[in-house]
Amino acid sequence: MKADSRGSRLILLRGRQVLPIARPAIADGAIAISGATIQAVGRWRTLRRAFPRASTRDLGAVVILPGLINAHCHLEYTGLAGQFAPAQSFTTWLQQIVAAKATATPASLKAAWRRGADQLIRTGTTTVADILSQITLPLPPTPLRVYAFLEMTGIRSPRSPAQLVATTAKKIERLHRRRQLAGFSPHAPYSTPVELLQRTGRLARRRRWRVTTHVAESAEEFEMFTAGRGPLHDWLGKWRGNADGGGGSPVEHLNRTGLLGANLLVAHANCLTRQDLLLLRRARVSVVHCPRSHEFFQHPAFPFSRLAAAGINLCLGTDSLATIKSSGQHLPELDLLAEMRAFAEKHPRVSAATLLRWVTVNAARALGLAGQIGVLAPGAFADLIALPCPETCTDAAEVVLQHRGPVYASLIHGQWAVAPA
Ligand SMILES: [Zn+2]
Repeated sequence: MKADSRGSRLILLRGRQVLPIARPAIADGAIAISGATIQAVGRWRTLRRAFPRASTRDLGAVVILPGLINAHCHLEYTGLAGQFAPAQSFTTWLQQIVAAKATATPASLKAAWRRGADQLIRTGTTTVADILSQITLPLPPTPLRVYAFLEMTGIRSPRSPAQLVATTAKKIERLHRRRQLAGFSPHAPYSTPVELLQRTGRLARRRRWRVTTHVAESAEEFEMFTAGRGPLHDWLGKWRGNADGGGGSPVEHLNRTGLLGANLLVAHANCLTRQDLLLLRRARVSVVHCPRSHEFFQHPAFPFSRLAAAGINLCLGTDSLATIKSSGQHLPELDLLAEMRAFAEKHPRVSAATLLRWVTVNAARALGLAGQIGVLAPGAFADLIALPCPETCTDAAEVVLQHRGPVYASLIHGQWAVAPA
């Protein structure tokens, strides 16, 4: 639907607080929406006068903010919640998930994917960067805005890197033709041949596609690349031919393949040298941290201060439920607000407003969607959420951070994904 300056096809949403992210919070604020697009954001009184013929919806005692962007997820592993013991060796976990994946059926993957998508919607995510490993296309229907990253491994594949990249590129093109967001996901430096990374980097740059990969996640991966030993090295050696080791860090390995660039979003980045930080900064790579997955593995400390000081674009993700601890009898659920709180507990000096930027504007930038999602501003998609907000609210971002449970409302592409009561 096109913008209608007379206001006849506009809807005005009103809330106690509106948190546009790109500008300060607005008390008694409103958002004018036409179809899937935001037309204006401001004070309720101002917009009411500017759009006298718009229909109105007063959401009441809520804070309205952009829908959250989960920058790293594997929805198809939702069925693996609570299946693996935490804090074990990273290599053992990899071996277990490879075995678990072998028993998954197409129907079980799709059912798990849908459950995961529903959990994210309920807890405030409106866009997810989702890695697709086994699930077949097309994806199940969901209101969620899905950026599909198609995973490639390749070290155990009988197909050549050239074939793998070409096949994946065709799938991405098919998704693009259906107006679906899609890019490459070479799994990790340890699970992909060098040639696959080189070809992915070249093609993605040529086509201006986004790429995501797991890198420098565990001490075992770091040890494999830097010293040529350790459990991951020994397990993968039979496929990789023990060719790695002594050649620098995982990030240096990626750099040599030409994969680093502003179109790259790396997950984890826990084990970084000083040189790695320079490489990531110079290439304008975005980094996504997954706090509860990090906790599950007890990885080396996430180098948050060093990354922030280097000005690197930081985002947050949930990772999958295969790497989130159960609490008591309760299976974990995908919940980006819970990830933000897990980070805030370890880093109390990081403000709620900063964390909110990571899951909105920063993630949008990482996905090449700055100005389109992660912000309440004219021209952006009408992707927003509403959460209860007390009358005494002085810090809307803190209210958002402390919210537990389902959101009061969620609008995605101008349609209610969670309708207000
Ligand atoms: Zn992951």
